[in-house]
Amino acid sequence: MKTKYRTHTCGELRITDVGKEVKLCGWIQKIRLMGEQLTFIDLRDRYGITQLVFHSDIVNTSLYSREGVLQAYGVVIERESKNKNIATGDIEIDITEIKILNESITPPFTIEDETDGGDELRMKYRYLDLRRSIVRKNLELRHRLAIETRNYLDKQHFLEVETPVLIKSTPEGARDFVVPSRMHEGEFYALPQSPQTFKQLLMVSGFDRYYQIVKCFRDEDLRADRQPEFTQIDCEMSFVEQEDILNTFEGLVKHLFKTVKGIDIPELSRMTYADAMKYYGNDKPDTRFEMKFVELNEVVKGKAFKVFDDAELVVGICAKGAAEYTRKQLDELTEFVKRPQIGATGLIYARHNADGTIKSSVDKFYNEEELKKWSATFNSQPGDLILILAGTADKARKALSELRLEMGTRLGLRDKNKFSCLWVIDFPLLEWNDGDPNVLASLAGRWHAKHHPFTSPKPEDIDLLNSNPGTVRANAYDMVINGVEIGGGSIRIHNKDLQAKMFEILGFSKEEAQNQFGFLMNAFEYGAPPHGGLAFGFDRLCSLFGGSDGIRDFIAFPKNNAGRDVMIDSPSAISDEQLNELHILVKKENHA
Ligand code: ASP
Repeated sequence: MKTKYRTHTCGELRITDVGKEVKLCGWIQKIRLMGEQLTFIDLRDRYGITQLVFHSDIVNTSLYSREGVLQAYGVVIERESKNKNIATGDIEIDITEIKILNESITPPFTIEDETDGGDELRMKYRYLDLRRSIVRKNLELRHRLAIETRNYLDKQHFLEVETPVLIKSTPEGARDFVVPSRMHEGEFYALPQSPQTFKQLLMVSGFDRYYQIVKCFRDEDLRADRQPEFTQIDCEMSFVEQEDILNTFEGLVKHLFKTVKGIDIPELSRMTYADAMKYYGNDKPDTRFEMKFVELNEVVKGKAFKVFDDAELVVGICAKGAAEYTRKQLDELTEFVKRPQIGATGLIYARHNADGTIKSSVDKFYNEEELKKWSATFNSQPGDLILILAGTADKARKALSELRLEMGTRLGLRDKNKFSCLWVIDFPLLEWNDGDPNVLASLAGRWHAKHHPFTSPKPEDIDLLNSNPGTVRANAYDMVINGVEIGGGSIRIHNKDLQAKMFEILGFSKEEAQNQFGFLMNAFEYGAPPHGGLAFGFDRLCSLFGGSDGIRDFIAFPKNNAGRDVMIDSPSAISDEQLNELHILVKKENHA
């Protein structure tokens, strides 16, 4: 770290360095004037904090302010009162000379782990926010994960290849961001939603193991944990079956847990999409805890309770040890499931009391004998609380999935330091789009590729493509960790006719398919190998490893929830001159 400016960093010096003459550079974290005589400064850089001490006659400290940049010369001495909380806490620097390299005006918030700056302010002054060790550590973690990803994939003979950022609009699922072309009037580039088609072309080229840590762009309505630009670890392999891919990337994740967190994770379990939906109501189940769904149609119907009798599905969970929930807590849960985002009409519960009795909120309809049957179906024990929802199958499952997570949180079962990883496999190939707000309206009312249009159906299901497309399963898989979809991919179609058929099912005319994806189908005529791959959401992986729910603080310069960069003020208007050159100037009326 030695340069002309400094001999050491502010995180480096220890008791064994006592007596050394050193030069440090950094920012003023804190100044303490101890009476007339002594001044202490905490000097901070990326590596830590070192205490400087000097007699006030050396310099005029009134010129010093928080976050100013100093260069300090002095000798390392042992501290009288040691600070066990920092690595350099045994020593301090007895200063002989100090130089102000630059001053700072008062920062808009404190540069401390616990800052007084709100979100918007932190984002506006992100360069100051990044001085806070808590945010800096997230970026260091991100760096480590990227390095270890490269180490692992390099050892497995993957080649990192860059693919273009200015490409052609090829809707893969979401909307494209587009870039107008100045040189070609009326024409546009699009930013890649992922390098999907390029990595498949690389397989045709014979690069049988490709990866790239790459920016991707999706113009989606923003949800809390989404960024319009995000980073993927994007991978593709040739001459592989699904099993090979699962093994290779299970290896990657194990390597990352081992090298970055020092954790040995067990072999990943596998769950079919159908089971994930049946038992967790969700294709990314949080398996840190059980609380699986129990279906009750057989047990509860026909007892004159209309809510259950009219429902397509009655389904519940058993929350261990929650029988003592108060009326107030149960009301909160009822309110929770009735929130519009969750959409249940009510919540039925039964307490399996410590004394063995069972009391439900619908005792009028179900006697002790009946409730015993409920208990047997759930395998509930004294002390447990049974929670039940009813409605159409899809809605009831979706709402119960939220309730399950809420109960998991309330019961402390979602420990951030515990990791439960699994593969969800056998996704359906297609889903019916009846108006997904994240895709173009013209795509509504037709089949939509659940993963993307290049995903291969399971060979044994190909016959169903014509007769019953909705039941066709894909060779597609997701890696799920703690209820978060960390990665996903598929075995691809590598046959031109099957790919053409797929576009037809997705409602593309022959011309549209040729226009948008002709390059890929043509490439498939020149000996495309069987291939498949996946991509990991790198930002999410970082936040998961960092024990956080949000991805923003793992990205150096993120956008806010409205997709804005409030620091550089983007998106922003551009000049008429620029618009003109891009041939997209909206002509202003001349009112002269
Ligand atoms: N391109 C896909 C995605 O971004 C990943 C893959 O299939 O490899 O989700």
